[in-house]
Amino acid sequence: MRLANVAGRASLVIDEAIVDVEEATGGSFSADPAEAIARADELSMVAPSLDGRRMPLDRSLLGPPSPRPGQIIAIGMNYHSHALEMGLELPSIPAAFAKFRSALGGPTGTIELPSAFVDHEVEIVLIIGKTTHDVTLETAWSHVAGITAGQDLSERVVQMAAGRQFSLGKSYPKFASIGPWMTSIDELADPNDVGLGCALDGETVQDARSSDMAFSVPELLVALSAIITLEPGDVLFTGSPAGAGMGHHPPRYLRPGQVLTTWVESVGEMRHELVERGA
Ligand code: ZN
Repeated sequence: MRLANVAGRASLVIDEAIVDVEEATGGSFSADPAEAIARADELSMVAPSLDGRRMPLDRSLLGPPSPRPGQIIAIGMNYHSHALEMGLELPSIPAAFAKFRSALGGPTGTIELPSAFVDHEVEIVLIIGKTTHDVTLETAWSHVAGITAGQDLSERVVQMAAGRQFSLGKSYPKFASIGPWMTSIDELADPNDVGLGCALDGETVQDARSSDMAFSVPELLVALSAIITLEPGDVLFTGSPAGAGMGHHPPRYLRPGQVLTTWVESVGEMRHELVERGA
């Protein structure tokens, strides 16, 4: 099942068409994408038999697949390739931080660059489907409604200031952009080995597979849920592989006028135009 937020309405994506969830279920599901996420198991069971009116997919109408996450959590330094390029050791436990909710963005449109030190980080993003506390490795994936593509955009000066404040440096508007839609876990050939990447003006700058993660998705959910409780709609960025601009000498940060495309295998692609702040 591919579940999109089309102008605020839960919609199934079928090929290049969409089917409105409320309309196709005769109102047994509301139009709210957050409800569709919380009932994703149920919806994916009925989805194949839904015979709704197919409308053309207009990507400019797509919003973040989870429109109101209670929490946006991210994991730092979670790919072997990224630790290697940074010359840093992988942490012995997952390095987690929060991104503030006002940073949430969708899969298209413009993103303002607040400075000359903004960096890209393609990530696989989990959308939580069930209350998740104290889960085990065996059950962890069953708490995930689906995955989507994400950009954990980062203003590196703010991020490293004041002894490191990841949350603030990674929370300018749209610095937590996700989309184009959520793909349910049953659609993934191997949920622990998914391709991800991003490109600037068509030049691939990050290209990896999630099998290179230091902590797998189940390991992340076990570690986080031992402390916090995740709720349906919560969003978890699972870490970025090698290729961020900061890893280059000198660093290669994002510039106004560039087009940033971000993809995750079995999901799809986001496309953002980068513009100067206030432009
Ligand atoms: Zn990141």
